[in-house]
Amino acid sequence: MTPEHQFPMTSEDRNPRKTLATLAARHEVAIVVFRPGLPMQKLISAIAPEEFQLRFYAPPLALSLNRYPAGFFPAIGVTAIVLCASLTIHDQHVAGIAGLRDGVVHLDVEDSGYADLAIHHEIFHFFDAHSDTFDCDEEWEAVYLAGLKYGPQAWRGRASSEPMSDFTSASGFVSVNAAVNANEDKADTFASLMTDWARVTRLSKTDPLIKRKIDLIHKRMSGSPASFDENFWRKAVEFDRRG
Ligand SMILES: [Zn+2]
Repeated sequence: MTPEHQFPMTSEDRNPRKTLATLAARHEVAIVVFRPGLPMQKLISAIAPEEFQLRFYAPPLALSLNRYPAGFFPAIGVTAIVLCASLTIHDQHVAGIAGLRDGVVHLDVEDSGYADLAIHHEIFHFFDAHSDTFDCDEEWEAVYLAGLKYGPQAWRGRASSEPMSDFTSASGFVSVNAAVNANEDKADTFASLMTDWARVTRLSKTDPLIKRKIDLIHKRMSGSPASFDENFWRKAVEFDRRG
């Protein structure tokens, strides 16, 4: 992700609670600001976000969520979005967590510049699970068998937190995190299509494996509960051009 694709840090929402309530109603999903005592899955920890963090996070959250049709989130099993700070799982800091069992997406509001990437990534995990392709995905594995290797040999010693925009040399993957396993690969390929369409499309012109993955994601999304059509992807393109 290049800096021009990040949301300007100056876009501040004076009334983020109102924005969150509007978003929740529109998308039929609970949007909750984390507070101590809120029930959480084991191994996840977080603290309550500061009000100023919500003011910066609400605009990118709204932009990202509003790219999906109303009714899509309940259809794929998302029931609640919890906005947190200092979000960790297994004591490791993360930008988001998809709780596929309880339908809860946890998002860390501390880095609003990368909010869109994390949001689309976690949402795709739900879409993947809803499509019954999360645990076993033969169609995706056919791409894998075409020459990809998940795991350390693909990372080549690089940190999974490395920015996507720097990851151009390894064939078949859009990011270091995508090379971890098939689920991360699908979620990062989708998220990068949503946030950095131009780069991923450029990569796909010289990388047939990335091209096959993009085609597969397009095919699957078009058959999704909310029937993603040409219009959806055209919007993704326009969004990306806007920078
Ligand atoms: Zn993931």
